[in-house]
Amino acid sequence: MKTLRLILGDQLCRTLSALRDMDHTRDVVFMAEVHDETTYVRHHKQKLVLVLSAMRHFAESLRAEGMHMDYVQLDDKGNSGSFTGELGRALSRHHVDRIVVTQPGEWRVWEMMQTWGEEFDTPVEFREDDRFLCSQAEFAHWAKGNKSFRLEYFYRHMRRKTGWLMTGDKPEGGRWNYDEENRKKLPRNFQTPPARRFAPDAITREVMTLVRNRFADHFGQLESFDWAVTREDALQALQHFITHCLPQFGDYQDAMKTGQDFLFHSALSPYINIGLLNPQEVCEAALAAYHQGLAPLSAVEGFVRQILGWREYVRGVYWMKMPDYARTNFLNAERPLPDFYWTGETDMKCLREVVEATRRNAYAHHIQRLMITGNFALLTGVAPLQVEEWYLSVYADAFEWVELPNTHGMALHADGGLLGSKPYASSGAYIDRMSDYCAGCAYDPKTKLGTEACPFNYLYWYFLIVNEARLKPNPRMALPYRLLARMAANRRQQITRQAQEFLARLQSRYL
Ligand SMILES: Cc1cc2nc3c(=O)[nH]c(=O)nc-3n(C[C@H](O)[C@H](O)[C@H](O)COP(=O)(O)OP(=O)(O)OC[C@H]3O[C@@H](n4cnc5c(N)ncnc54)[C@H](O)[C@@H]3O)c2cc1C
Ligand code: SF4
Repeated sequence: MKTLRLILGDQLCRTLSALRDMDHTRDVVFMAEVHDETTYVRHHKQKLVLVLSAMRHFAESLRAEGMHMDYVQLDDKGNSGSFTGELGRALSRHHVDRIVVTQPGEWRVWEMMQTWGEEFDTPVEFREDDRFLCSQAEFAHWAKGNKSFRLEYFYRHMRRKTGWLMTGDKPEGGRWNYDEENRKKLPRNFQTPPARRFAPDAITREVMTLVRNRFADHFGQLESFDWAVTREDALQALQHFITHCLPQFGDYQDAMKTGQDFLFHSALSPYINIGLLNPQEVCEAALAAYHQGLAPLSAVEGFVRQILGWREYVRGVYWMKMPDYARTNFLNAERPLPDFYWTGETDMKCLREVVEATRRNAYAHHIQRLMITGNFALLTGVAPLQVEEWYLSVYADAFEWVELPNTHGMALHADGGLLGSKPYASSGAYIDRMSDYCAGCAYDPKTKLGTEACPFNYLYWYFLIVNEARLKPNPRMALPYRLLARMAANRRQQITRQAQEFLARLQSRYL
């Protein structure tokens, strides 16, 4: 039976289910760069280079193995610009008996694929994406049996299942979670880990030229591109992280520092998400470092939880709740996204720093995404769809199955608390504690009202005031609402006035 095996841009993995049982003598591996995928949001230029160059390198490696490749480049003559169009053209070239594809990561693509069997009168076999550590069926089963749909319980289930950091049925070290030890401020004299840079090769340079010419109006710096685009280099990035960053990953996981774009974070998410690295091998490398005494338990547990816990959990939520999940708007947030998310032109230094780092690298670490750009969008009530489009565009690791639950659920509380039990709303005090951004800002994080006051301070209280009916019943919001209840009426009025003036300026300035 002659088979066409379709590989998508985030499925660049030799052990992918769609490549199993490959018959080298008959089958065709089909890959296509299509306009629709490069523009459904205005992806950061580096994200485009990463995916397109990694696709081309992956195709080269399969070709070198002797596979029959059919690869369509973005600027090939006759490229129809869509997956469906390109698949149709490929089928007319190859006359196959069936199409095999690994389930795509995004709902949008999944829906499109449902029409193919009928449209092409060719059977389409969908295979599970078993690069994940928890299948969709297993997640649904777990969720059904658990009244409390929380990450913490899912994570424990996964720890027990894998046996990672377990002593019998008990967590290693006696605790499931070492978060309390993982929230340190950076010491003054901390040593920055050495940079890891992958100089662009000829294929990447060719793709950079394509992106420079074709997507000039997309966000982001192109020339600083230094991501790995092959599995070999991604493995080197993994090793670099294990050696230089993992031992301190836990301690400084929440810290932020001007000009230090990566700190002790792994920056491995783009590689894991497009298939260059497998989540299991990444966790196993961290576990091996722990067992060899090269990294402490708190760091390794913190790291493993992000992948075995959060990454699998958000994917489970996405597939269980889509497509309705994306449409909820619990806080009725409707404000347009301020223009400075694209330009970086704001006198709020924390936001400026994060947008600039994002522009430089197509990367910001979790706390920057959650507590700076996410927190500001939450407090000011920016419409979820606009915030989600921004996150999906600007990060090299952004694919909807992981971006959407993180933005919609975790950062914006737009799902009403399905993913996070309370909104991650915070005043300037948190940012001041965890970063050095406030030094040199036009505002003062310790001042609550008046022209000097950090906007996060009054916006935080105003957020609580305007969302009182929705959030006060949440038991986890009891403390802030008790504090709000104790606030003098005239102070409440002053906060409301200043927040409304700020929001009005935000509108008039950026609309
Ligand atoms: C608003 C918002 C949007 C986000 N959008 C994305 C996205 O589009 N793609 C994406 O991969 N992550 C996203 N995240 C999660 C997280 O911020 C990134 O995975 C992380 O910053 C990637 O950097 P790193 O590889 O250095 O991570 P590290 O801090 O080194 O963590 C290790 C790994 O754990 C995984 N991980 C950590 N946190 C999460 C999480 N919350 N959800 C899923 N996986 C996680 C990633 O694979 C990451 O590589 C988002 C978070 C927020 C708050
Ligand atoms: S003072 Fe406020 S706006 Fe300025 S950097 Fe600090 S938290 Fe951000």
